[in-house]
Amino acid sequence: MNKIADVKSEGIAAAWRSPYFGEEHELLRTQVRRFVETEIKPKAQAWEEQGYVPREVLRRMGSLGFFGIRYPARYGGSEMDTLATVVLAEELGRCTFSGVAITALVHTDMASVHLFNAGSEAQKDQWMPRIISGEVITAVAVTEPDAGSDVKGIRTVARCDGDFYVLDGTKMFITNGVYGDLYCVAAKTDRAGAPSKSITMFLIEKGTPGFTVSRALDKHGWRSSDTAELHFDGCRIPSENRLGEEGRGFYAIMKNFQNERTVIGAMAMGEAQAAIELTLEQVRTRKAFGAPLWQKEAIRQRLAMLAAKVEAGRQLVYHAAWLDTHRVDATKEVSMVKAYCGELVNEVMYACLQFHGGMGFMRESTIERMARDARVQTIGGGATEVMLEEVAKRL
Ligand SMILES: Cc1cc2nc3c(=O)[nH]c(=O)nc-3n(C[C@H](O)[C@H](O)[C@H](O)COP(=O)(O)OP(=O)(O)OC[C@H]3O[C@@H](n4cnc5c(N)ncnc54)[C@H](O)[C@@H]3O)c2cc1C
Repeated sequence: MNKIADVKSEGIAAAWRSPYFGEEHELLRTQVRRFVETEIKPKAQAWEEQGYVPREVLRRMGSLGFFGIRYPARYGGSEMDTLATVVLAEELGRCTFSGVAITALVHTDMASVHLFNAGSEAQKDQWMPRIISGEVITAVAVTEPDAGSDVKGIRTVARCDGDFYVLDGTKMFITNGVYGDLYCVAAKTDRAGAPSKSITMFLIEKGTPGFTVSRALDKHGWRSSDTAELHFDGCRIPSENRLGEEGRGFYAIMKNFQNERTVIGAMAMGEAQAAIELTLEQVRTRKAFGAPLWQKEAIRQRLAMLAAKVEAGRQLVYHAAWLDTHRVDATKEVSMVKAYCGELVNEVMYACLQFHGGMGFMRESTIERMARDARVQTIGGGATEVMLEEVAKRL
């Protein structure tokens, strides 16, 4: 059973008590929350301005074990479960700088998983220890200028040439794309074949001839996360850089989407919870018409309903992660998580910004940044409409 009493003194409310979590999860939650309070929140405004998270911060996260939560101990990981990943994502989501959260979570749960799931023992021995320590930062490059939701439509090609592959094409919106070290790249190895059987994943290091970061992209939110357009022009890599079998890339991408979407949902619920807490503080202290705004029923009830929806969203995330932990197919639940939590965090941000009044519209206010950061939650990693189609198919 949970030893919540042990962590209460660290400021974790008893509200976190849940049948899904054990002592290890709660200790992890305490540790991440402390890191967020002491090492992210006081410093991250500067990272927003420079457009990336400093490497020493990522190394520090690695040294604290945040990058190896589910990976084997022999690589330096702690062999925890999907629910532990949810704890990390939720707590990073609460940091109010979602660009920082996504920098870490793409590395841990969207990019390096491709190597871990499909890589050979030699590839894993070579890279996993440095990935877990934060020495090597990973990116995943699937999306292209003309293909995002429709993964089968990618045009980057990898032509087999003896013991090498030669890649040509462009990738778009790649998180950790500017400052990353190691990229898991999707390319077509069979242009004539069935689209679902023609994509292969490759491991490509920064600095490989023919591979360039063509530009850093300027974004509406997530400003402390670096995002790039990448270009491959006759990029020649040895065949041993292939991840898994030829033609299995589409299935690998779809499989990893389940994890990615659970993590993004957890992050969204962390963001929403933090916004509600911030707004409660605001409306309890801000006075208008002779009393704190909290005295206005319209405000109180709206926040109460949003808190209820966030609780529901959070429980859906936990349930999907629990199913995954028990190896039950949770495609429907995970798609629900991505659609529901992505829309909900935006509903929460809209109301929270509203209750901050004019100050909520100012760049100096936290809620203004949070509202911008939340916008992408209905687009990246599976747009709401695409997720709802996945749910509808399974109803
Ligand atoms: C900040 C950021 C970071 C990202 N990081 C990465 C990354 O690291 N690696 C990576 O590979 N990709 C990344 N992406 C890409 C992201 O996953 C795609 O943007 C997303 O999948 C949507 O693809 P698209 O932008 O091409 O939009 P499109 O596929 O062109 O779709 C546009 C819109 O049309 C609607 N739509 C699409 N399909 C349907 C449908 N079937 N039915 C109804 N409506 C539909 C949706 O509203 C959608 O938003 C990132 C994107 C952003 C913005």
